[in-house]
Amino acid sequence: MIKVGINGYGTIGKRVADAVAMQKDMKLVGVTAHSYSFNTEVAKQKGYRIFASGDDDLKANGIKPDGDINSLLEEADVIVDATPKKIGKENLDKYYRQKKIKAILQGGEKHEVAGTSFVAQCNYNEAIDKDYVRIVSCNTTGLCRTLNAVNMKYGIASVHATMIRRGADPGDIHHGPINAIVPVLEMPSHHGPDVQTVLKNIEIFTTALSVPSTLMHLHTLTVDLKKKANVDDVVELFRNSTRIRVVRNAEHLRSTAEIMEFARDMGRLRGDMPEICVWQEAIGVISNAHNKLLYMQAIHQESDVIPENIDCIRAMTGFKDGEKSIKMTNETFGIR
Ligand code: NAD
Repeated sequence: MIKVGINGYGTIGKRVADAVAMQKDMKLVGVTAHSYSFNTEVAKQKGYRIFASGDDDLKANGIKPDGDINSLLEEADVIVDATPKKIGKENLDKYYRQKKIKAILQGGEKHEVAGTSFVAQCNYNEAIDKDYVRIVSCNTTGLCRTLNAVNMKYGIASVHATMIRRGADPGDIHHGPINAIVPVLEMPSHHGPDVQTVLKNIEIFTTALSVPSTLMHLHTLTVDLKKKANVDDVVELFRNSTRIRVVRNAEHLRSTAEIMEFARDMGRLRGDMPEICVWQEAIGVISNAHNKLLYMQAIHQESDVIPENIDCIRAMTGFKDGEKSIKMTNETFGIR
C-alpha cells in the first residue's frame, strides 16, 4: 500500500483525497487543515485523519487534530501538495526536501520547481521513481491530452489555441469577472510554453481570456498537421483515446452548462467530468497546403487533473506500467 498524505484540502486537495481513498493500492494517511471550514467538517465525516497546518482554530470549532503537518509527513510515502499557487514551492523547500519525502506539486507552481511536469498519457515514464513532480494545470492537461493523440496519429507542424477561461471556481467568492470579458494581455499566454514542458517538440502559440462563468474552460484549436486527416477519423481517434469524451449536439450537449448537468445526472462524485470533452460537430478539417484541423473542447478545471495525481503517485513510487495505472485509475472514476 502506498501511504499518501494531502497538504492543502481545497478544490483540488479534497478531490485527490477521495480519489486516493478509492484506490486499492493506496492508503490515505490524512489531510491537512490550514484553517477551519466546512471542508474540515466533511473530512471529519468521511473519517479522514486531520493534521493542523496553520491557524489554531480547529479545537475552538470542535476538531481535535491527529497531529500537525510534521506528523503527517512522518507517516506518508508521498505528499500531494494542493496548496495555493507558490505555497507549494515554499513547502517543498521548508518541509519535503528536509524530510526527504516524495512530493507532487500542482499547476500553480512553475515547471522548474519540480523539474518534471506530468500528464499520464503523454509522459508517464518520466515520473517513474522521481522525488518531485508537478501536475500541469487544468488547461495544460486538456491541451496535452488531445494534442498528444493528434500528434501520434498525424504529426503536428504547429498549433494555435485560444483558452476561454472560467472566471472563478464555483466555490470561489473572491474572483471574477462578473460583467466583463478580460483578455490576458501577454502574447503568447503562458499555456503554450507550459504544454512544451510535457510535449517537448510541439510548436504551439496560445492566447487566453476570462469570462463570467464558473463551470468549465473552453478551448478553440487550429492545428497544422503533417499528414492529411478527415473528420470521421479524427472523431474515432478522440473516441479511442483515454480521458477524452466526444460529446454531440444530438445529445443536447451544446454548452459547458449542459456538460456539467450531464456529469451530475451520471452520478459522478461532486458532478465532476475529468474527461476532456470535444464537440463532434465542431471538429473540422481544411485540406489545403497546411492540412488544418480545427476543434473545440471543454475542460472541467476542478477535476481533470485528479486522475493525473493518482497515476503520478504510482509512477513516483516505482509502478512501471503507465497504461495499467491509467486503467486502474479510470476504473475507480468510471471513465474510459
Ligand atoms: P484552493 O484555494 O481551493 O485550496 C487550497 C487549500 O490550501 C485551501 O484549503 C487552503 O486553506 C489551504 N492552504 C492555504 N495555505 C496553506 C498552507 N500554507 N499549508 C497547507 N494548506 C494551505 O486552491 P486549488 O484551486 O485547490 O488550487 C491548488 C493548486 O492546484 C494550485 O497550484 C492551483 O493552481 C492548482 N490547480 C487548480 C485548479 C482549479 O481550477 N481550482 C485546477 C488545476 C490546478
